[in-house]
Amino acid sequence: MMSHDKQANDETIVDVQPDEPTIDETIVDVRPDEQASDDTPTKVQRSSVVPPIIHVEKLGKNYIMGRTVVPALRGVNLEVRSGEIVAIMGPSGSGKSTFMNIIGCLDRPTLGNYRIDGMPVSQMSAGQLADVRNQKIGFVFQSFNLLPWMTAQANVQLPLVYAGLPTQEREQRALRALTLVGLKTRANHRPMELSGGQQQRVAIARALVTNPSMILADEPTGNLDTHTSVEIMAILQQLNARGMTVILVTHESDIADYCRRKVIFRDGRVVDDVVNTNQHLALAQIAQRSAREEKKVAQ
Ligand code: ADP
Repeated sequence: MMSHDKQANDETIVDVQPDEPTIDETIVDVRPDEQASDDTPTKVQRSSVVPPIIHVEKLGKNYIMGRTVVPALRGVNLEVRSGEIVAIMGPSGSGKSTFMNIIGCLDRPTLGNYRIDGMPVSQMSAGQLADVRNQKIGFVFQSFNLLPWMTAQANVQLPLVYAGLPTQEREQRALRALTLVGLKTRANHRPMELSGGQQQRVAIARALVTNPSMILADEPTGNLDTHTSVEIMAILQQLNARGMTVILVTHESDIADYCRRKVIFRDGRVVDDVVNTNQHLALAQIAQRSAREEKKVAQ
């Protein structure tokens, strides 16, 4: 594991292999001035200068089960600014999925307000919601959700088919997205010819291909081993370093450690919202692991 001081001082430049989970020739922005010198969480400060990409206020969601009302969210207030990488954590049943479904415009709140980029989403029609969802949000799921009979490239192109783009543009954009996740050479492989980590990278490419404003990832490493999880987090961190907003649900604290901010849900409420001053850098960890393995081989 890299020491924190090392993380803070490094601006890591990585040598990219064609199928490594890295983006082109990558410079990871570790924002040294933001790295604090200890592990103490600090509360998230609001900025009035940068408008939030997500603004929810007094968000409530009740599910009706027969004659019982199940309050899944009970007055959630939260802002996420463009370019943040945020982990949503909390025990099972605390409202994380309900919250993600609402901010992903897949469901509507019972109470409260929700704005994306300043647009009042809570008042939109189903059609308008679908447009916002398609234009602004890229989804990544635990189970990848790839169509098994289609190649990686065809899977990545799918959202563009729905958007009605011409074939050539679809193909080019899908290849670009696959290149971003280091899988250009696997474009013609079907999901079963790819590892779990590669399948998740295809799913990330599919989420990126529409140029969304943010990626919402629901337990993106839930089906992956530790090494592969770090590779997926490296990709998400690199996208974030390029300015992509990333919000991910995870129940694993070592995955949340790769995020700059941690929001904790309990019983339908946000009970903690902290800056992670010891953000782990996945790419640096991968480089260290490779160096260790090379050393072992050389001995
Ligand atoms: P988490 O993702 O943190 O596990 P959820 O958002 O899935 O939590 O669930 C929050 C609460 O809402 C739980 O009590 C759950 O049982 C309830 N709930 C979630 N979805 C539904 C649904 N479709 N119908 C009824 N209750 C639901």
